[in-house]
Amino acid sequence: MRRLRNVKIVATLGPASNDYQMIRGLFEAGADVFRLNMSHGTHDDIRKRHEIIRKVEADVNRPIAILADLQGPKLRVGVFANSSEELEEGATFRMDLSPAPGDAKRVQLPHPEIFAALEPGASLLVNDGKIRLKVNECGTDFANCTVTVGGTISNRKGVNVPDVVLPLAALSDKDRGDLEFACELGVDWLALSFVQRPEDVTEARHLARGRAAILSKIEKPAAVKAYDAILQVSDGIMVARGDLGVELPVYSVPPIQKRLVRGARAAAKPVIVATQMLESMIESPVPTRAEVSDVATAIYEGADAVMLSAESAAGKYPIEAVTTMNNVAMSVEKDPTFRSVIEASRVVRPGIDCRRDRCRRPRDCRATNIKAICCFSQSGTTASLVARERPHVPIMALTPLMSTARRMALTWGAHCVITEPQDRFKGAVLAAVRAARDAGFATTEDQIVVTAGVPFNVKGTTNILRVAPCDERLISRVDPE
Ligand code: PGA
Ligand code: MN
Repeated sequence: MRRLRNVKIVATLGPASNDYQMIRGLFEAGADVFRLNMSHGTHDDIRKRHEIIRKVEADVNRPIAILADLQGPKLRVGVFANSSEELEEGATFRMDLSPAPGDAKRVQLPHPEIFAALEPGASLLVNDGKIRLKVNECGTDFANCTVTVGGTISNRKGVNVPDVVLPLAALSDKDRGDLEFACELGVDWLALSFVQRPEDVTEARHLARGRAAILSKIEKPAAVKAYDAILQVSDGIMVARGDLGVELPVYSVPPIQKRLVRGARAAAKPVIVATQMLESMIESPVPTRAEVSDVATAIYEGADAVMLSAESAAGKYPIEAVTTMNNVAMSVEKDPTFRSVIEASRVVRPGIDCRRDRCRRPRDCRATNIKAICCFSQSGTTASLVARERPHVPIMALTPLMSTARRMALTWGAHCVITEPQDRFKGAVLAAVRAARDAGFATTEDQIVVTAGVPFNVKGTTNILRVAPCDERLISRVDPE
């Protein structure tokens, strides 16, 4: 099965998408990557979903990426004697360390590290930013605040502290347990929530020990500021617009999205645009015009993937939501304007790096009968560099490694195929030609571009680029080696 679009679709699984039939349906409708949210569900639930995805993968015979999303340092208030209270604008409200049940005047905030970092003037946001408090005075175990936006506050609501870099461990004890569990299970990507500094990423990478690639969710102002350094140590990025739009003014999210997507593209690392993409489809079988436009915008920007959250995890219409994204993607990618926007946003890189230069050339295949670019890749780097150029023809990533093929399911345009390990270039060309024909990309009349590194099976050696006919008889003639 091949996709008729390049941008990838990430579908979050949840109560609405638990069984084989639904997960297979989501794949067939267009989901390339499944996201397992470690904030919800037990390890047993996660293991069951993982097993089902791998079963679907085997049955459809296509590599599928599984992304485990770690909860991260999510902050929460304590409990109230009456479960909830109304906070009026202008009132004073105190947060402290006392575990005594809260009332209309105070509540516990069981995070001493927040009090240590707070300063007068900072904002505390409660319940996805619906309630805003401004700190007047604070100490090591309390903060006296004024309510600037009122509302209902209830037990264990989430708290955001946008203005300060919190000295929080990037990974809680729960996250460490979840990370080890997910790596053992064999997920392909780990998403890190509330990353603040590059060290947060390197810490997770150290724990993952190469078993999964690391994707940083950009959802804190500190992460936006430190983006270049975070990008450098990450394997991929998520523009996590949900929390980002709480921590920063919501109208600052679109320009940040553009910057993050552009940066990740330049670094040849996959970037996902996430959250509320088709929000109304949680309840409705059809999207709003604005949502369709939002998905289209992310695709025009050149994002590698667009993501569904509650739409596929807990909504009434998971299949319809994936189908909608698939249709929007096909419509955008057919648009001649899409090509010109992508060309215009291509990053010009100074200097010539032999490997990179070879990867850039295939973008000019348009005028020929070249039907695919086939990259032999161990780590996936060569295919990612080709994908960065957003070529006109399909990219086939050929690799003997299942882990590479699965990770690449997130990369723009990459159609991954598992091949036998190669040791001769001619054998590789023949394997590429067969793979391109089997997948329906080319016929014997066509040509493909093949890139590979000789000697084979050494990471980072891509040094050959060959235009090959798709007819084996012609290959033997032109390529006797
Ligand atoms: P979440 O992350 O769904 O785990 O909160 C995505 C976001 O914040 O946008
Ligand atoms: Mn988030």
